[in-house]
Amino acid sequence: MIDGELPLSRIEHDADALSRTDPDLLTRITSGRFILVRENQIAADHEGLVSVTADDIPTDMLTWDHVSYLGKTDETAWSALHLDTTNFELDAEGMPYGDRRLTALHHRNFVSLRKIGHRLTGLESGLATMGTALGAWRDDRKHCQACGGIMAPMAGGWEGACRDCNLVTYPRTDPSVIMAIRDQDDRLLLGHASNWEPTRYSCLAGFVEAGEALEHAVVRESFEEAGVEIDRLEYFGSQPWPFPRSLMAAFRAWTTSTIIEVDGEEITRARFFSREEFASEIAAGNLTVPMSSSVARYLIEDWYGGTLPVNRDGTRNEW
Ligand SMILES: [Zn+2]
Repeated sequence: MIDGELPLSRIEHDADALSRTDPDLLTRITSGRFILVRENQIAADHEGLVSVTADDIPTDMLTWDHVSYLGKTDETAWSALHLDTTNFELDAEGMPYGDRRLTALHHRNFVSLRKIGHRLTGLESGLATMGTALGAWRDDRKHCQACGGIMAPMAGGWEGACRDCNLVTYPRTDPSVIMAIRDQDDRLLLGHASNWEPTRYSCLAGFVEAGEALEHAVVRESFEEAGVEIDRLEYFGSQPWPFPRSLMAAFRAWTTSTIIEVDGEEITRARFFSREEFASEIAAGNLTVPMSSSVARYLIEDWYGGTLPVNRDGTRNEW
C-alpha cells in the first residue's frame, strides 16, 4: 500500500449522507458555503478552492436543480453550485446576461481539478473531487435512460428522478486499473498511447470489464497492451478520477517477460526504463511524466524512490 494518501483520495469533511433526505436540508445549507463547479472544472484562485455564500448566488438557483450537498465540517455545511453556460444568453465576453451575481460567479477562475488537485488542502480536495464527480454525473444524465424524460436531482443532489416515469438513478463510477510493471532487473514498463504528445509516457491502465475482478483486469490489460505476463501483483491504492467517472485502482506488478509487444492501436510504444535511463530521458526533454495529481505519478515515484528529476530548464516536464 502507498504510504499516505493520494491527492484526490483525501476526504476531511463528513459526507453526512444521512442528511441527504432531510426535507429541511436545503434551508440548512443556505447558511453554509458553496464551491463552484462548471463543466468539469472548479473555481480556484492562488489561495486554493473558491467558495461563496448563499448571498452571492441568485436565489432561484438555491434548489437541487443547481446544488449538491457535499457534507459538513464542524460548523459549516458545504455544497457545490453547478453552473452551466449553455442555458443562458451570453454577452460579448461569453458570460451570461441577467443576475449580476450569476455573472460574478462565472467570472471566477475555473480550472480542472486534474491540474490543481495536489495543491489543494485535504478538505478542499475532498470537496472538489466530490463536486466534480457530481457535476459530471449531472452533465451526463440530464435525460432519463428509460424514457428520455428530464431528470430532477434530489436527495441533496445524490439521486436523480425522472419527471415522467419516476426512474431513480445514482451517480456511477467506472473502475479502472493502473499498474507499475517491473521486470527482473527492476526496470519500469511505461507505455505511450497513440493519441498522446510524442514524449508522453505513463503506466499501463485500462477499464475493468464486465464480470471481471481488479486483479484479472491488471493481468488482461498488461497482456493486451504490451504482451507482458504478470507473475505477481500487489495493491497500491486507489483514487477517484472524476473525468468523468473513473475510480483508479493502482497496483505494483512484476513480470518475467522480456519481450514487449504493443497492441499498436491503444498503445503504440512501450519500453522498460532503468532509473538511470528514466532520469536521463527526462533531463534531455525526451520524456514527460504524468501530472502531479495522478495516481500514475505516485506509482512512478514509488518505483523511482523519490521525487522525479527535472529536465534541463529546471521544470519537471509534466503533462
Ligand atoms: Zn423516465
